[in-house]
Amino acid sequence: MPLIDVAVPVPLRQTFTYSFEQSLMPGVRVTVPFGNRTMTGVVTGNTAHTDNPDKVKPITGVLDTSPVLDECQLTLCRWLWQYYHHAPGEVIHTALPVLLRKGASAEPEPELWYRLSPTASEADSADLSRAPKQRDCFGALQKAPLSADVLKQTFSATVIKALLERNLIEAFSREPDSADRLWTDKLTIGSKPVPDQEQAVAISAIVQKKQTFAPFLLEGVTGSGKTEVYLQAIESVLKAGRQVLILVPEIGLTPQTVSRFTTRFGIEVGVLHSQITDKARLRVWQQARDGALGIIIGTRSAIFTPLKYPGMLIVDEEHDESFKQQDGLRYHARDLAVMRANQENIPLVLGSATPSLESLNNAINKRYQHLQLTRRAAGAQVTVQHVLDVTDQPMRFGLAEGTLSLMRQHLDQGNQVLVFVNRRGYAPALLCHHCGHTESCQRCERPYTVHKAHRRLHCHHCGATRPLPASCTQCGKTEMVTEGIGTEQLEQGLSQLFPDAPQVRIDSDSVRGKDKLQGMLDAINQQQYQLLIGTQILSKGHHFPHVTLVVVLDCDGALFSGDYRAPEKLAQLVTQLAGRAGRASKPGQMWLQTHNPQHPLLQDLINNGYGHFARHALLERKMAVQPPFGVQILVRAEAQDGQLAFQFLADAASCFEHVQLIGPMPGLIEKRQGRFRFMLVLQSDKRKHLHEQLRLALPAITAMPLASKVRWSVDVDPTDF
Ligand code: ADP
Ligand code: ZN
Repeated sequence: MPLIDVAVPVPLRQTFTYSFEQSLMPGVRVTVPFGNRTMTGVVTGNTAHTDNPDKVKPITGVLDTSPVLDECQLTLCRWLWQYYHHAPGEVIHTALPVLLRKGASAEPEPELWYRLSPTASEADSADLSRAPKQRDCFGALQKAPLSADVLKQTFSATVIKALLERNLIEAFSREPDSADRLWTDKLTIGSKPVPDQEQAVAISAIVQKKQTFAPFLLEGVTGSGKTEVYLQAIESVLKAGRQVLILVPEIGLTPQTVSRFTTRFGIEVGVLHSQITDKARLRVWQQARDGALGIIIGTRSAIFTPLKYPGMLIVDEEHDESFKQQDGLRYHARDLAVMRANQENIPLVLGSATPSLESLNNAINKRYQHLQLTRRAAGAQVTVQHVLDVTDQPMRFGLAEGTLSLMRQHLDQGNQVLVFVNRRGYAPALLCHHCGHTESCQRCERPYTVHKAHRRLHCHHCGATRPLPASCTQCGKTEMVTEGIGTEQLEQGLSQLFPDAPQVRIDSDSVRGKDKLQGMLDAINQQQYQLLIGTQILSKGHHFPHVTLVVVLDCDGALFSGDYRAPEKLAQLVTQLAGRAGRASKPGQMWLQTHNPQHPLLQDLINNGYGHFARHALLERKMAVQPPFGVQILVRAEAQDGQLAFQFLADAASCFEHVQLIGPMPGLIEKRQGRFRFMLVLQSDKRKHLHEQLRLALPAITAMPLASKVRWSVDVDPTDF
């Protein structure tokens, strides 16, 4: 009987051999016995040999007639499990939509639809005058039949059932619309601006590279017309009947983003993000695979979407941290996009106003073609940046007098002011004025954040919460004071200082759900607010043409962080924020409050801009042999007993001979959810060598007795420590 290799979703770094009466296509799902359970796995290949033929068990079921992962995707999965040293079964699970992991059919299934019964008539509508919901539902179906999914968005099951019982409507089943490349007939090109010279160069460079692997870095300040370059490059791909996959950061995937593409091309766009249902996700996956969608826009995991006619890949805001998955398979969607474009032989456009140092280095070394847009389209001016020395200055709610008077000026002129602070909540700590005790989360050993609105303490590391104590839990005195400033406090303070300026706070507490954020952003641009207070969310994807002043409360933390990537992140944040403000008639200005006005990084950034800063930062990384010049792999371990986690990594360290090791040492967050965290950094200037050493060491590490007593994982090219 043929022997078949199957990736089974268990955390073991190997595939498993089974037998079957005939050979099977790689990429087909099968059910197999594993231990005393039955699991759904995916065939990865047929094999000729096994070490213990007596132990081979038979495959018990075959779920697909054609593979759910095509050759290209299987190749990428293999690359993923080798490069990230991850379990093949878990890699393949990550690559599949949830419903397919659970064994659902990969073929589109007939859908339930409703229409009027043949006997229903106009008179029935009048009869329903006493049941307005039923009348509306009837009216909707009078116009056209509707799918149950659509109908249920507006009408309850009770209403539908009542109409069914009255025999006014009937259910029927309908094949879903999956017509291959039907969109090519619908394609229309909406009105578009004439590209300026830099845009024209970029567009023609990209569209020249049809059906060849060609990576581009499109570097352009916010508002310089990068999206317009994507749109015009996409146009030529769609006209050739080929598909485009666009990755965007989670927060950038707004209805506005999608509508820019639908308006330009007049075709349906497949949308994939964390909020959509498993069913809708599977639908987009099927339509993309069957060639029924021309454009697919999605967040990180959309990189796994199959394409029947691959034409181009785009990663917008390629520097964004959300492209790196921070648990399970810790892949970077941007890096996977490079592998995928290479595999599919198509161009790849990485776009950003603040490219990651990795991509910038590739552009400088000519591995990527570097396209630059240096001017803001439509004449908008670049926001001028300044530092404001707050040393010895009296401060109110974290703002210096100088800052406050600037704010007053801009508000008096009727403009909007944006204040950025990197902490949500009221204050990052609560302490006792008498004994100095700081209220801390027991499980994380970190101060609680004070949330006054709910009168609670929250741990931002593990999510634990408890009521705001009236007295010190250590000495019992009632002299509790807060330390530091969060968005909530700033909002309160500013409403006292500027009572006439309507203000809005934007952070993950105040915006729950995408619609709410969009509503607030619209209100801001309609000038319903004058003072904008918020966190990172404000730096991503939205443009605020009426903002003329941006204030950054505190950049000192990032200048002296233990994370060597902190300055890069600060520079990206500040540059992105600056890019959000101002327009042609009203240029913006930005002030960065700091105790270190002469810090070379800050000076470089504000005087010479991100591009210069980043090139300088690259030189520093080169001297320190840090990424992208050195390669890093992290082995993390955590346990309730910190000694065990440390000892595991110390033992693991002894499995390496020709690798530079740092640690074991505590993680930057030393304790989380009751577990102590340690890390061991493996470092080398040769990627292949480092991976090879880890590959050789992993079996021994996995076999160590402590390996089953601690939680441990491998993180290749870590971005978070
Ligand atoms: P980015 O993606 O770099 O932030 P966009 O492509 O969104 O920039 O462009 C910013 C604004 O300028 C948009 O309103 C866009 O329609 C407009 N725009 C882009 N290119 C041009 C052009 N060549 N002529 C006129 N307007 C343009
Ligand atoms: Zn905690």
